[in-house]
Amino acid sequence: MDQVGEIRNKIDLVRLIQEYLPLKKLGRNFKANCPFHGEKTPSFVVSPERQIWHCFGCGKGGDCFTFLMEYEHIEFPEALRILAQKAGVALVSSHFDAGLSSKKEKLYALNRLVCEFYHFLLTKHKAGEESLHYVREKRNVLPQTIETFQIGFAPQGSNLVSYLQKKKGYSADELFAAGLATRRGSMLVDFFQNRLMFPLFDQRDNVIGFSGRVLTDTDKTSKYINTKETVVYHKGATFFGMPTAKEEMKKSSKVYLMEGEFDVISAFQQGIPNAVAVKGTALTEDQVQLLSRFIQKVVLCFDMDKAGQEALKRSVSLLEKKGLTVGVLVLVTGKDVDEAVQKSPGEFQRAIKHDIPVYDFLLTQTVKTYDATTIEGKKKIGQELLPFFAAITNEIVKEHYLTKLATTLDTSYETLTKEIARTKKEEIVHTVLTRAVSVPRPRQEVLEEYIMAILLQSAQPKNLFSIGVPLTEAYVWTTASLKKILDRLFVYGESHDPFVAKDFASGLPEELLPFFDTCFLLPLPNGLDENRELKKSVESVLAMSIKAQMRKISEEIREKEQAGNAQDVALLQAKFTTLLEQLPKKESR
Ligand code: ZN
Repeated sequence: MDQVGEIRNKIDLVRLIQEYLPLKKLGRNFKANCPFHGEKTPSFVVSPERQIWHCFGCGKGGDCFTFLMEYEHIEFPEALRILAQKAGVALVSSHFDAGLSSKKEKLYALNRLVCEFYHFLLTKHKAGEESLHYVREKRNVLPQTIETFQIGFAPQGSNLVSYLQKKKGYSADELFAAGLATRRGSMLVDFFQNRLMFPLFDQRDNVIGFSGRVLTDTDKTSKYINTKETVVYHKGATFFGMPTAKEEMKKSSKVYLMEGEFDVISAFQQGIPNAVAVKGTALTEDQVQLLSRFIQKVVLCFDMDKAGQEALKRSVSLLEKKGLTVGVLVLVTGKDVDEAVQKSPGEFQRAIKHDIPVYDFLLTQTVKTYDATTIEGKKKIGQELLPFFAAITNEIVKEHYLTKLATTLDTSYETLTKEIARTKKEEIVHTVLTRAVSVPRPRQEVLEEYIMAILLQSAQPKNLFSIGVPLTEAYVWTTASLKKILDRLFVYGESHDPFVAKDFASGLPEELLPFFDTCFLLPLPNGLDENRELKKSVESVLAMSIKAQMRKISEEIREKEQAGNAQDVALLQAKFTTLLEQLPKKESR
């Protein structure tokens, strides 16, 4: 057996996934809320027997390797290394290191070198003197902090490009792909020039890119520029400050979410290491996903200006969806964390100890903006806040804020819940309509899958065979592969008792396995009455199939009538009547 197979065999998928998410037993399988798309009812299923997982919401699925790759955003070779270690398998060959993984490793090494180069220029070289003065005197960054964050300086010109090409043997293509150089005519020049450099690390301490800040705010170019997308740097997938924040985030289960590099650095110097910066752009689902692996609570420390408050509102729903507790840091002495710290460290220390629950904050802010004594003001406050309060996942918390809002608006709790129900209905109708348009799956096809799910997930499928018999005979399946599995199941079931899914699956041809897995993992309700459900579903598909044949025949009858072929018409009518008689009683009406 190859090493990949050996590792897959040794890893218990249920135990592996349980390290990342809580799994609940559901019949033969386990279920959870999918970590790869937002949802409130679990459609993520893990099968201990088949050692596979699948999400019926977003369609992702696979084995232990694909789970780790998806969850950790890593490539196969890295997942292989991690799982080999877990399984206690010593990897012999290194042919997996080829391709993308080695490209990534090379880029990490190059970025590390560049990080050291810039850091050296800032701290030890004459070229960085002025910037060092700026960082230490104007921004009050301590030498130890400059060291910790590996802050650097990129001078004017093409110092980096010539250093890397001449001294380190890197090619123009490599520097270009790393986002470290741009072409100017036939020349290759440094991408970052005359900027203070902040290296960006991922949660495994790899240098994935850089953020460069101009030294004087009056500069005409943009204040910050970041590394362009590379194989290791993806915008909106990481934060500034991960290496310093990680440990305290795990320990305290809390993170302070800030806007910029200097906010994080100032907080760090105030003894708050668990602070990270979103970096200008809006918080993304990927970032929330990353945070939720470390923490339970997020304190938003965004700028007190309009843009900062808009960013705050956008972040709330993303964080709530992940079930995280959200607080807000209210600054009174400065427009952002950095300014607040510089102006009054004491005030900042007081403020950071007393963050306000985000929904209280929103309520206070909104009431300040609109006049709650006028009808118009009440309507505005309701419109602004109800979407936030309606989305609160914890019912007790939700009721608390709705009651509070009702008091503020001098209305009743019932009125607010009615208003929520009304807007929700519109939303639901909207999503159902759009989904129906985008995924037109015939009901017969869905039912066939359901029937096979009941049979395959049953502890004793054999007991259900008699109900399924009509489907092995005249019935025409819309999914032929499911019919093939059914036929094999009937044969297998005759000679094998009890039913061992793994054993049965291993006898299936490769092309039928995906169909088997879909049905085997399809979430069925707990305590399902197999007999009843199966009977009902079999009757339904049979009726559907008969009706389809009847539709076809009545069309033929019309054609023959037009052609004046009375004999054929009579024949078809007889056929039609036979089919009609086959319809289950309540269906024939
Ligand atoms: Zn999903």
